[in-house]
Amino acid sequence: MSDDYQVAQRDVAAFSLAIKDESRRLGFDLVGIAPAVTPGGFDDLKAWLARGYAGEMSYMQRREAAYEHPDRVLNGARSVVMLAANYKTQDSPDVGPPEGLVAKYAWGELDYHNFLREKLKRLADFLHAECPGCRTRGVIDTAPLLERDFARLAGLGWFGKNTVLINKRMGSWLFLAALLTDLQLKYDQPHETAHCGTCTRCLDACPTDAFPEPYVLDSNKCISYLTIELHDAPIPESLREEMGQWLFGCDICQDVCPWNRKAPTSVEPNFQPIDDLAPANAVALLKMTEAEFEQRFRTTPLSRPRRNGMLRNAAIVLGNSRDAAAVPVLSSSLNDSEAIVRGAAAWALGRIGSGGVRTALQSRLAVEDNDSVKQEIHNGLARIEETT
Ligand code: SF4
Ligand code: SF4
Repeated sequence: MSDDYQVAQRDVAAFSLAIKDESRRLGFDLVGIAPAVTPGGFDDLKAWLARGYAGEMSYMQRREAAYEHPDRVLNGARSVVMLAANYKTQDSPDVGPPEGLVAKYAWGELDYHNFLREKLKRLADFLHAECPGCRTRGVIDTAPLLERDFARLAGLGWFGKNTVLINKRMGSWLFLAALLTDLQLKYDQPHETAHCGTCTRCLDACPTDAFPEPYVLDSNKCISYLTIELHDAPIPESLREEMGQWLFGCDICQDVCPWNRKAPTSVEPNFQPIDDLAPANAVALLKMTEAEFEQRFRTTPLSRPRRNGMLRNAAIVLGNSRDAAAVPVLSSSLNDSEAIVRGAAAWALGRIGSGGVRTALQSRLAVEDNDSVKQEIHNGLARIEETT
């Protein structure tokens, strides 16, 4: 760090306050500053990874050591400015076929990463203008930084039993972002208390029992992980029915949290629900070509599971609806170019069980060459036999 901007930091406390004012002016709802230290949650992360709870998110394992200290993300980091933006716009809608649910955070037209990155860049510009020569790096999810831990260290809230950061005033519908800097700033008091008490609503409401214990999430069972991160594989059959109507992500363990009852509503235009996302139409999704999917969702978080993941999810949601009106589109999906989609369609048809599904499954079986899809078709046919 150069002496020049050491001198420029003539009043660390005043400059820290100015950073906070600028953060709020940029639209962040919460801001706090933490020292760049090894976070208390680093050992928990190692234990969590060792238990296999990250599922197929191998990038976490690969970068395990880097989570130890923010200076792995920004060399010489001294401070972490933690920011949060409230994305709650309205309650989760009631849905029936052919609609499916999308997690609140993805209701807007833009991927929040892009939106918040721009704000972080403007906050970084502010630091550089005040302290020329300082170093900064903005982080939103993509770097090995335990953002939730630094949010707690910066006084923004505590970890709920559902593992999400909760703020007394704002609840938990929060995007987290961090701006690392080599500047020495004035640090906030960590949020030392927790306020779940004897409540276990989130643990009880989780349809897949994804919490082996309070404060610990097994991603392998979490609908958010299954519908978003696990995009190149079938969803385990034992968890498909529990997915219910969730097409992308899951909000259940936050919807039931009492701290979200009075969560304020965001007026940020970029977070407002887009008509075809809150809820989304599973039949329309299943009819999308690769080009149509890319065109419609490339700017949104729904691009993450890609077309094959989203169409797989749509088939499962339609299967869970048990609506015979979905049979024609699911029968067409038996001919999809992606084996994952064909397999999910076969499962869904077996679950619906009526409206000519046996003929559709047998016709596909006669030409199918993928062993995993063949097995799904056999299972679907067996299910129909059991229930008729
Ligand atoms: Fe369970 Fe849904 Fe919460 Fe995942 S997001 S832990 S599936 S309630
Ligand atoms: Fe804590 Fe209850 Fe909220 Fe779960 S639902 S995070 S236990 S307050």
